[in-house]
Amino acid sequence: MLLAVIDPSCEQSRKQCEEFVDKFITCSKDESLGTAMNRQFHKHQKTCQKKKKGGEDSCRFDFPRYPMRKTRILSRLDSTFSREDVKKYKAIHKQIVAATKDIASTDENCSFGEYLGKLRLTENDYILALRSNLRGHKVFYQRDLRERFLNVYNRDILSLWDANMDLQFILDPYATISYVNDYLTKSNVVASRLLRSLQEKFKKGDLDLMNKIRQIVNTFINNSDITAQEVCLHLLGMAMHRSSVAQVFINTSPFEKRVQLLKSESDLEVLHDIDPDSQDIFVRNLSCRYIQRPGILESVCLSDFAAMYTFPKKKSEKKQNEDRNSEEEVGFSENEEKKNTSTQYGDIAAQFNIER
Ligand SMILES: [Zn+2]
Repeated sequence: MLLAVIDPSCEQSRKQCEEFVDKFITCSKDESLGTAMNRQFHKHQKTCQKKKKGGEDSCRFDFPRYPMRKTRILSRLDSTFSREDVKKYKAIHKQIVAATKDIASTDENCSFGEYLGKLRLTENDYILALRSNLRGHKVFYQRDLRERFLNVYNRDILSLWDANMDLQFILDPYATISYVNDYLTKSNVVASRLLRSLQEKFKKGDLDLMNKIRQIVNTFINNSDITAQEVCLHLLGMAMHRSSVAQVFINTSPFEKRVQLLKSESDLEVLHDIDPDSQDIFVRNLSCRYIQRPGILESVCLSDFAAMYTFPKKKSEKKQNEDRNSEEEVGFSENEEKKNTSTQYGDIAAQFNIER
């Protein structure tokens, strides 16, 4: 993989990159490299065939590749080309692909000029046709027709390596990220396929939402490969990552549009037993805590409040009720005791876990 930064709109930058590419990599057939050279030729396998939208089979590695007189970095056709022109060049591109695919091995030993002659195209039309099929920028390496199945290589490395290689000059940082990511997540391809078949199964069956989610989770967990390090962390119950920066969501929608989380069923049952008319049915969120903040925090704005204070986990209604009952039995209230023993600031710290 060769990576360089290019400004495609700058002719000089483009030229420098083309010279750089030619200096290090090539796809010209070099008989002196013997068997190593033969290994550089792509041979279609069952796995490299993919169906295109039109139903036609094509090679996922884009072989055969286009012959070129010299290495060039080409860009997609810009807006100066009319729709009709783009359509015309796209049609020519299709003819080029078909002709390059069907060419007999006896006819492949021709020069680039002869190849264009067979296609009945000028070099300019040929280049425009290739550009009509591009989404961004792409390097087209210098190659003859007989080299259309040859992978790009470095002469020095190939003679030492003695195995096949496919070197690429990368113009698009996004393409690099997606290339690396594809390799990292290669093992997840199986899981994706299984999840897709599960989706088909759901369409036919009548499982409820909870069971569907359960099946998806099980399929994903049981069919994803994980590294030995991940296994160790899971078994030891250790966190996969830590961060010194946390994110807090602050819902700033109008009050009536804020979504609130309903208390659990068991909590609501306990609440109903205590006070059947109670409207305290929502889990306390950041906004509630802000509204109910103590006087000492009156001047603190909502974002500072969210950033600077954390809250102790609240006991469930059931647990609170149990505590309440046991306190009644021994005859005192924890809150009362706290009021008597702690300072005003200590009280707030207990309620809001203020970081001092
Ligand atoms: Zn192939």
